[in-house]
Amino acid sequence: KYSQKYYPGTREELVSKIKTAMSPRRFQHVLGVEQAAIQLAKDNQADVEKASIAALVHDYAKERSDSDFQAVIQTKHLDPDLLRWDNFIWHGVVGAEMIATELGITDPEILDAVRKHTVGAKDMTLLDRIIYVADYIEPGRDFPGVQEARLIAQKDLNEAVSYETQHTLEHLLQMKKVIYPAAMETYNYWVAGKL
Ligand code: GDP
Ligand code: FE
Ligand code: FE
Ligand code: FE
Repeated sequence: KYSQKYYPGTREELVSKIKTAMSPRRFQHVLGVEQAAIQLAKDNQADVEKASIAALVHDYAKERSDSDFQAVIQTKHLDPDLLRWDNFIWHGVVGAEMIATELGITDPEILDAVRKHTVGAKDMTLLDRIIYVADYIEPGRDFPGVQEARLIAQKDLNEAVSYETQHTLEHLLQMKKVIYPAAMETYNYWVAGKL
């Protein structure tokens, strides 16, 4: 049961809005992230309701068109540098604006956790770290290393942030993918230990 502090409705209402915004497969991923985030919130004495809401909305915008994101970047006067990137970064950073206007969620910590869920950041709140890790270890994920990541997350959330950051970056480099600069800042702090 939600307190109505962060979402002006019930969990069921939020879930049904999320469901209509995405494919059944992605919706299942979102429910998995919620489950993982609630567990991490309990393990780490975080706000379970905020973890649930942030998880349910984290990929809300993932299936929106490029032109939707470009329009929001312009009308909300977001950093024009964002226009050089694409869906992988927009669905979190620009998606947070859509979540605010379309779902009526204005809590800055929830919106920040959505903004940071893909590449992380040097500074991450407890909620940011929970969503970042839950997205990676949710029960529906299946990739080499995910079981190790789940075991680490049960023991130490910060270690899990480090593991995920290192392995995601290794994977992107292996695939010769472009690296979003903020992902390097996350790596320098959480993996290389640079203050
Ligand atoms: P998802 O939305 O649940 O699929 O997961 P994420 O939001 O964490 O990631 C979205 C996509 O962006 C995934 O395919 C990631 O591998 C990819 N991604 C994350 N960081 C980077 C990056 O720095 N560069 C590129 N090219 N892709 C990235
Ligand atoms: Fe995502
Ligand atoms: Fe992720
Ligand atoms: Fe996700």
